[in-house]
Amino acid sequence: MSDVRAAELAQGLAGVRARIAAACASCGRDAGGITLVAVTKHHPASDVELLAGLGVQHVGENRHQEAAAKLAELDPRVRSGLSVHFVGQLQTNKAAPVAGYADLVHTVDRARLARALDRGAQEQRSEPLPVLVQVDLQEGREAGRGGAVPGEVEELAAVVAGLPGLRLRGLMAVAPLGAPAAPAFERLAALAARVRRTHPGADVLSAGMSGDLEEAVAAGATHLRVGTAILGSRPAHR
Ligand SMILES: *Cc1c(COP(=O)(O)O)cnc(C)c1O
Repeated sequence: MSDVRAAELAQGLAGVRARIAAACASCGRDAGGITLVAVTKHHPASDVELLAGLGVQHVGENRHQEAAAKLAELDPRVRSGLSVHFVGQLQTNKAAPVAGYADLVHTVDRARLARALDRGAQEQRSEPLPVLVQVDLQEGREAGRGGAVPGEVEELAAVVAGLPGLRLRGLMAVAPLGAPAAPAFERLAALAARVRRTHPGADVLSAGMSGDLEEAVAAGATHLRVGTAILGSRPAHR
């Protein structure tokens, strides 16, 4: 059974790596500048272990309880080699534990959450917690999927940069629903360039999922968050 699943994951991963290579080739980028985050939400710890065996070093999770339980289940040798990316909307009261285990939090979208992560990070970490400010690219089209509206991003970035427990690493966004990804990612990249003028270390751009990773690579994404194209459709919510 595990052999069958390993083969499925190997195939999914190879397909995504080939798409990234092709996208990089078509815009003259080096694929070495791209970090692939395998989003393993709703998939079991055994999948994470198989992916690690296939060379995956970065995994993404979007819910604290699920992430914490899954990480605890992993073989310690696998766990110690993984970078954990928190990519979900985060409630302030779950911020402290996430600050304890995440290597990069992609979804800081309000000052209150930044301050809660800062407190958790100062209590539990010897080094600041790297974070991204999430940008809402919906631009008023129905309820957003989280994120600060573009006009508030620079102010939030300044708040994050001023917190001793956090390190501002860049911006993240999900493409808008019902609108083309490419122009939205271009707006995100322009905003990221503005933020970098004030915060040169904020050089991470997290954009692109299974359906739009090519557009994200073209816009300069450094981190792609890919679930379905690697792991298949997610099992029913547990
Ligand atoms: C689930 C998720 C992804 C991965 O989405 P796929 O379409 O399955 O690749 C990426 N980013 C975030 C924030 C997610 O919640």
